[in-house]
Amino acid sequence: MPLKSFEEYERLAAEAHGHLCAGQILGLRLALCGVRLLGMEDPAGADRKRLVTFVEIDRCATDAIPIVTGCRLGKRALKFRDFGKVAATFCDLREDRAVRVSALETSRDRARQLYPEIANKNQQQMRAYREMPDTDLFRIEWVRVAIGPQDLPGYTAPRVLCAQCGEGISFQREVTRAGRVLCRACAGERYYEPL
Ligand SMILES: [Zn+2]
Ligand SMILES: [Zn+2]
Repeated sequence: MPLKSFEEYERLAAEAHGHLCAGQILGLRLALCGVRLLGMEDPAGADRKRLVTFVEIDRCATDAIPIVTGCRLGKRALKFRDFGKVAATFCDLREDRAVRVSALETSRDRARQLYPEIANKNQQQMRAYREMPDTDLFRIEWVRVAIGPQDLPGYTAPRVLCAQCGEGISFQREVTRAGRVLCRACAGERYYEPL
């Protein structure tokens, strides 16, 4: 299934996200921009094993990205790096190249200039983000991303058990402290406090 029409992507995004919003339109445009720059015609189908996507924010736009790319967290093809930015990096594993696409801060102002008659900001931005050229919406940079074999979809390695909590750890996420094999939580990276 090669790239679909934008209307079709909008329909799928609304279904997956629960509503259609300016963030969805922006996310779809951002993902389409990325896969086109990589020359992928069928990212969710024939090219799906070529693509790994890093997203930098957990907002509306994030949900739209897998609609185009097919990259999902549970398939290890979607990586979340919480930088709080509407940006994503699309990595082509076959060609060994990657492109980072980030939303320009000026796009909201541009939407206001284009459609001052639309009072509702979300509606105004939705309309504008459908029509604006990529160059008005995004900053594009070619980058290098080091992706280790343990980060790739399909990687298999024996699970190890944390010497402290006993929980299983996959994908070489264990660390060694004073000769003991620990999970990252027990090694001090815990994001929660046991009660
Ligand atoms: Zn939304
Ligand atoms: Zn542990």
